[in-house]
Amino acid sequence: MREVIVIGSGPAGYTAALYAARAQLKPLVFGGAIFVGGSLTTTSEVENFPGFPEGIDGPDLMLNMRAQAEKFGAEIVEDDIVFVDLTGDVKEVTDSAGAVHRARAVIVATGSGYRKLGLPKEDELSGRGVSWCATCDGFFFRDRDIVVVGGGDTAMEEATFLSRFAKSVTVVHRRSTLRASQVMQNRAFADDKISFAFDSDIAEIKEADGKLAGVVLRDAFTGKTRDLDVTGLFIAIGHNPRTELFRDQLDLDENGYLKVQSPTMRTNIPGVFAAGDVVDHIYRQAITAAGSGCAAALDAERYLAALT
Ligand code: FAD
Repeated sequence: MREVIVIGSGPAGYTAALYAARAQLKPLVFGGAIFVGGSLTTTSEVENFPGFPEGIDGPDLMLNMRAQAEKFGAEIVEDDIVFVDLTGDVKEVTDSAGAVHRARAVIVATGSGYRKLGLPKEDELSGRGVSWCATCDGFFFRDRDIVVVGGGDTAMEEATFLSRFAKSVTVVHRRSTLRASQVMQNRAFADDKISFAFDSDIAEIKEADGKLAGVVLRDAFTGKTRDLDVTGLFIAIGHNPRTELFRDQLDLDENGYLKVQSPTMRTNIPGVFAAGDVVDHIYRQAITAAGSGCAAALDAERYLAALT
């Protein structure tokens, strides 16, 4: 029987583990079978995590976070949780071998995946011209020609943000009208650097020397294709919070994110807390995930203290 189990090993999970470990709660962390360290392990340079003025490699940052949590006694297991029963005073989580682990508190930090186009080379060129986060990567695209895929608020926000750096931004949307709010649309339409390719999608991602070398656009009606010379492709077609396991037990919002009793990280079940991108559909940054992981651990610590 543990005090705390953490599910997830991204910035939220590791920070929760660090705080819980320093509070002598000996957390057991399930970090995932193949995705240990979380989303930042799929990127190269991280320039906006405070404390690293020269920037830091994503995987190195996550190894540092892991080492710091382990130093204070967090136990990290590289396995998936496949089933949870969070309803009782004693929470149960089941690993992929079928072993059941029990704790009085659970912190869920399973993150959120970016929706993908599903095209060849998309993953391979992630961090080499293909990105899902303008806040993270926009700075690397100064004076470049960029394409943004999507028609919602996020796509408009990414496009207007990127136009600060880019030479040009082409928004590609598969329909003839945008889904974004009027105010976001107006801002994008008023921006001289932004142009639109409606009723179009990306048919192909082109690569040269291991980097993005352009995309092929396809007209939705005629099927005709044309080359677009860009060195940046930002995909803004939504996210999938990893909440499948919790669907029947924890409250989710209309987009499938876990709901917490803000400003705390408490969920609807006493003793269950949530942090990071599995909760946050607004900021989605490593530092905000780490911050909410800290808050979740402090909430768990107070919950456990009140039980004794
Ligand atoms: P994640 O980092 O996604 O971690 C989720 C964790 O949950 C993983 O360890 C996974 O294995 C685990 N997990 C999921 N399901 C289970 C399960 N069933 N059992 C056990 N474990 C499970 N942000 C920045 O601030 N700066 C950047 O420069 C930046 N660049 C980025 C580049 C890329 C390519 C990507 C994809 C993201 C980038 N981000 C950046 C965003 C940042 O990575 C996320 O905001 C942050 O990682 C969210 O942290 P998290 O802990 O909530 O989730």
